[in-house]
Amino acid sequence: MSTSASQPVTRPAERSGRVHHRIVVVGGGTAGITVAARLRRAGAPDVAVLEPSGTHWYQPLWTLVGGGQAPLRASLRTEAEVMPSGVHWLREAAVSVDPGARTVGTASGRTVSYDRLVLAPGLRLEPDGVPGLAQALGHNGVTSNYLPELAPLTWDLIRRMKSGTAVFTMPAGPVKCGGAPQKIAYLAADHWRKRGVLDHIRVILVLPETAMFKVPEFGRVLEDVARRYGIEVRLRSEMVSVDGAAREAVIVNHATGDKETISYDLLHAVPPQAAPEWIAGGPLADPASPFGYVKADPATLQHPDHPEVFALGDVANLPTSKTGAAVRKQAPVVVANLRDTLRGRPLRARYDGYTSCPLVTARHKMLLAEFDYELKPAPSLPFLDTTKERTDMWFLKRYGLPQFYWHGMLKGLG
Ligand SMILES: Cc1cc2nc3c(=O)[nH]c(=O)nc-3n(C[C@H](O)[C@H](O)[C@H](O)COP(=O)(O)OP(=O)(O)OC[C@H]3O[C@@H](n4cnc5c(N)ncnc54)[C@H](O)[C@@H]3O)c2cc1C
Repeated sequence: MSTSASQPVTRPAERSGRVHHRIVVVGGGTAGITVAARLRRAGAPDVAVLEPSGTHWYQPLWTLVGGGQAPLRASLRTEAEVMPSGVHWLREAAVSVDPGARTVGTASGRTVSYDRLVLAPGLRLEPDGVPGLAQALGHNGVTSNYLPELAPLTWDLIRRMKSGTAVFTMPAGPVKCGGAPQKIAYLAADHWRKRGVLDHIRVILVLPETAMFKVPEFGRVLEDVARRYGIEVRLRSEMVSVDGAAREAVIVNHATGDKETISYDLLHAVPPQAAPEWIAGGPLADPASPFGYVKADPATLQHPDHPEVFALGDVANLPTSKTGAAVRKQAPVVVANLRDTLRGRPLRARYDGYTSCPLVTARHKMLLAEFDYELKPAPSLPFLDTTKERTDMWFLKRYGLPQFYWHGMLKGLG
């Protein structure tokens, strides 16, 4: 993979064991690139992004890939294409951080020192958290839209299915896009309904919480959607093991403690999720997070113990849903506050917990759930009633939002 012409070439000092950049961003995903682009637009000099991958993913499209509504290739670009001009791309992984010394250690053994650090390495999927899941994924009817290589398999399994049992699961704990585990169930059910086979398919949706969605306004709509398709919703329930060869999943009901073994023909499983190990076991993790996410002030996104460190995106321990939409609102706050620290000013920007989940409920219907830290609906399109399923919202998700992502958000605009 070549870097774009606008990238600074690797300097001799960077090939040695130690290098310094004024601002180091760890992760060149949604959050890292958005922040780096905004920093460059604001004229910040000497910004470096540590990112080992040559591919940048627009993950929200994976639901539509699994639902047969978009090709996987529409969800990716090369990392070089999205790296903002003038940013130093250090193409390797961070493996440690020493906030006292203000350094990040890398996989190749280099030390990168910084004046300011932005942590945005996303989260880690942990299929091993459910015994049997890692072995089962990708075989014998088991799939997950959370793994891009398996999202096309989801669609393959959905379109081949004419009868039997389909199980869709969500693990306990924070996951990225909390609506994605159920969206794919609705897309599948809608497809089966249109094909006239839904009556022959038992659809089971396994959700860990006490309600289908944290915000009651949207939860009520989803209850109607599930009812419409005849989906059996198991609340306060979780898949605790899977036997891929036997095609059996064990579901526990946390309310009663009952365990049930369900034979499935299709299993869409969302693996448990946690912070990357080097973060979870490192000095910047929030002791209050059982998943090892980074401690960050919910409003300023600054690390309370290390004012030169900011965190955003999936890796930050914030009491809101982990989405790209949340990142869009967090990035300007991080950039403004980080620049204030460089100028010795008090931090002025505040994040209110805004997040949004485009809940696809049918092949051309969507409910745009937008809310804040207080779980109050926070509509950004006040002239539209987004608490109802809408066709225009589906077109927004399929065509509008990806365009905005590639050409607006990742360019530091919008
Ligand atoms: C199936 C699915 C559906 C979704 N649907 C939606 C949706 O409809 N709407 C929405 O807003 N959001 C949705 N999301 C969530 C959204 O994609 C994420 O919240 C968002 O990508 C988070 O951005 P991030 O930068 O924190 O993490 P990521 O975008 O995952 O980026 C993390 C980056 O860090 C890099 N990295 C990892 N480890 C290291 C390391 N050690 N050193 C350096 N770099 C590292 C990775 O390679 C990656 O590039 C969905 C996600 C999934 C999986």
